[in-house]
Amino acid sequence: MEKGFPEPEKEQGVPFRSSEAESEGDEKWMGLALEEAHRAANEGEVPVGAVVLWENQVIAKSHNQPISRHDPTAHAEILAIREASEKMKNYRLTGMTLYVTLEPCIMCAGAILQARLARLVFGTCDPKGGAVNSFYRLLQDGRLNHSVEVTGGVLQASCAEILSGFFREKRIASPLLNQVR
Ligand code: ZN
Repeated sequence: MEKGFPEPEKEQGVPFRSSEAESEGDEKWMGLALEEAHRAANEGEVPVGAVVLWENQVIAKSHNQPISRHDPTAHAEILAIREASEKMKNYRLTGMTLYVTLEPCIMCAGAILQARLARLVFGTCDPKGGAVNSFYRLLQDGRLNHSVEVTGGVLQASCAEILSGFFREKRIASPLLNQVR
């Protein structure tokens, strides 16, 4: 069966849909994150893209680059947070929103908390490693001293399709990978 990124499950407590006006804006910025994801795919990286927004301005955007950078931490979110912090000359990104095409992993959820981002908007869930809704709920854990507003499922189909398309092509290109999986 195709490795899928299913629809986010609404009953799990993450407020997946925001107001209409907000979701229109969210789709626009997620579109930009998707462009970044395409950039990653063109570079042979798992296609995930991220954008940091502050007062309707794009402060940073980046895409997944762990392979080319020889850096396991070079996820789209980490690179975008680093760029935004550098630009703002501030290690806190208070009041800012991060848009990312895939539900963040444990490391990136940790970085989102460290950066004190106000809001996270993601595209599609990652049932294999998502740390915001699927596997863990790190951004809404009352034991931590910061919580983040979360919206998921924005441009979900496009965000999922770019990933499944990428892995489909990889399997066609490498019959050995087919056997391993
Ligand atoms: Zn990550």
